[in-house]
Amino acid sequence: MPDGRLFTADAPFLRDMASRFGTPLIMHDLASVRERADRLKGLLPGDARLLYSLKANPLPPVVHALQQAGCGVEVSSLGELGLVGPSSTMLFTGPGKSSAEIRAALGAGALLSCESATEVARVAAIAPAAEVVLRVQPGHSTSAGLSMSDGRQFGFTEEEAVAICRDLPGALRVGGLHCYVGSQLPDTAALVTAFELVVRTVTGIADAAGLTLRVADLGGGFAWPYAAPGAGPDLADLPDRLAPIVAPLRARGTEIWFESGRGLVAPSGRLLLRVLDVKVRSERTTVVVDAGVNVLGGMSGLGRVLRPATVPRNLSTPDADPMRVDIVGPLCTPLDRLAVQVEVPQPHVGDLLCVDNVGAYAASAALSGFLSRPPATELVVDGLDAIGCWRLRSGHEALDPPGGLV
Ligand SMILES: *Cc1c(COP(=O)(O)O)cnc(C)c1O
Repeated sequence: MPDGRLFTADAPFLRDMASRFGTPLIMHDLASVRERADRLKGLLPGDARLLYSLKANPLPPVVHALQQAGCGVEVSSLGELGLVGPSSTMLFTGPGKSSAEIRAALGAGALLSCESATEVARVAAIAPAAEVVLRVQPGHSTSAGLSMSDGRQFGFTEEEAVAICRDLPGALRVGGLHCYVGSQLPDTAALVTAFELVVRTVTGIADAAGLTLRVADLGGGFAWPYAAPGAGPDLADLPDRLAPIVAPLRARGTEIWFESGRGLVAPSGRLLLRVLDVKVRSERTTVVVDAGVNVLGGMSGLGRVLRPATVPRNLSTPDADPMRVDIVGPLCTPLDRLAVQVEVPQPHVGDLLCVDNVGAYAASAALSGFLSRPPATELVVDGLDAIGCWRLRSGHEALDPPGGLV
């Protein structure tokens, strides 16, 4: 359990921002975003491309900063597509793409990652000579915290991929393969195991199908703590371990792509919360704060409900004795718990709490429609400079045509 009295160097700045912009406030630091992009790119082969997965945080200045830092983009909806600037490395993913999405993605110059024979046919009907990549489930699952390879809704099996390559509709071309083993791979060893499996899978399919691999997207899984202090694993030995793994792709002249969401943005975000109430009872103390799962990702990334494992700091009284408390949000549901039996320097009504590492899967992954509260203000800073404020829209809007919409 990290000591809540540590990490207080930035407290005066955070207190100032909370008093100027109010709470709940999510602060995103572009300097941190750029630093993470440099670090992560530094761990990958020099000629590889790193794609930012907008799912983690679609806030426009964050997306812009990562594109400026040289990242490609991985998008999965028309909304995300509308947020990105032109990019030579743009992948459109997702297991259920509509014809409208396919048209828009191709129109924007994105490469489609096709997930089934039905979808390949849908693409061919729209753009008979398009180049696509196929998403493939690697052979078996690894030790991912959130494994997508056991999610059967994603992509082709290896056999299905080989079969479709031999029987493509129209003049469609398969330019490459895309795999995503899972998120939050805990260390270098887990990443190496995943990438080895992926390279074996994609080269195996390419050989069996007589495919020239122009692109191989090897996925990601770069981990970072969620809503608790700390940092991702030390991956200093990744470059040396990765070089021989990607050598067979290099030998084919294949472009190598990686993807990351949280690995690029998680540490750039901090959530500031105000304590509204403290209920001290003999058996348990409950701290009520001004935002809960309506602001802090109801999903911790990939479709799982947030485990109540938030570890906040107390910025108001960082030197108070630590106290074991439950921290709950203001929603009228017992599910609105941010932390259960967590140690925080004793909180009082009016104290300012800070939740670190929420640059990924916070506002846009939260239950913001539930209970009709306004989404959190999102303040973008660059180091110590405040750049601008943003907020997701919320609430219902009336749609006019009563006779139908399509
Ligand atoms: C969600 C997702 C990512 C990003 O996951 P992180 O854990 O945030 O890095 C990357 N690729 C695909 C296909 C995804 O679905």
